[in-house]
Amino acid sequence: MILLDGKETAKTIREELKAEVETLAPKHGRAPGLAVILVGEDPASQVYVRNKEKACENVGIVSVPHKLPADTSQEDLEALIEKLNADGSVDGILLQLPLPRGLDSQRCLELIDPGKDVDGFHPISVGKLTLGLPGFRSCTPAGVMNLLERYDIDPSGKKCVIIGRSNIVGKPQALMMLAKNATPVITHSRTKDLARECRDADIIVAALGRPKFLTADMVKEGAVVIDVGINRTDEGLCGDCDFEAVKDKVSAITPVPGGVGPMTIAQLLVNTVQAYREHVGA
Ligand code: NAD
Repeated sequence: MILLDGKETAKTIREELKAEVETLAPKHGRAPGLAVILVGEDPASQVYVRNKEKACENVGIVSVPHKLPADTSQEDLEALIEKLNADGSVDGILLQLPLPRGLDSQRCLELIDPGKDVDGFHPISVGKLTLGLPGFRSCTPAGVMNLLERYDIDPSGKKCVIIGRSNIVGKPQALMMLAKNATPVITHSRTKDLARECRDADIIVAALGRPKFLTADMVKEGAVVIDVGINRTDEGLCGDCDFEAVKDKVSAITPVPGGVGPMTIAQLLVNTVQAYREHVGA
């Protein structure tokens, strides 16, 4: 069994990006810039934002935090996004979700300049993914594809069962698998006999947010299991897969933590450097 080490792989990606930024920044007179908007005090969001800022610093991306109180109005939030859209030192804009109740996240996401949409959530980015055109890709599924590639796991011709159909993971994951010539199957809470679908899969991407949902009897011998889930339980952090039970049956698997999570952040950095290159013409 191969442990797909997202932590180490993300470190390698950061080192590559750091070297890239060190070459590009002096040539173009500035480093890449990422604006991070955090509204309210959600503890998990604060941790995510801190990790993203640390990762940026690591590779030489200037991350500028914009921390707004939970009672910020839609109007003020939109005004900030407009300001960042117009700011030439900002290559990427990240709006940390979820937003506090009363704020319209979809409206805000659609307001972000598509050229700065490093999270890949804008309808234009999603449309480009659907059409197979270059563009910003949602960080978690793109991080999964990057991890597979770095371990030489080619999805071509494989049946890939994705559990979960969210706009940020499940749906874009299916499109990215399709782009790599896999046969993706999206399953969800209304899928009939989900276990049978999984047993037939060469690759399973579990992204539903239910601790230890994927059990050994649902996994084919030699399958590849990607565990996207992050669940906080009384026993600590755990994924959507029953890792201990499944690990001896599979050919490769991601751990939680240390699997998809670090790859997601690494992909945000990749997207930010991509945006920067487009803005400076590198
Ligand atoms: P979501 O709640 O938006 O979507 C969950 C999906 O799972 C839904 O489509 C739902 O139909 C499906 N689902 C729920 N219960 C199910 C069941 N019993 N059987 C089959 N399908 C079921 O969640 P999300 O934002 O896509 O995130 C999913 C998980 O991935 C969460 O644990 C989240 O914390 C984690 N996540 C991790 C990262 C990372 O960086 N590692 C990034 C994003 C999300």
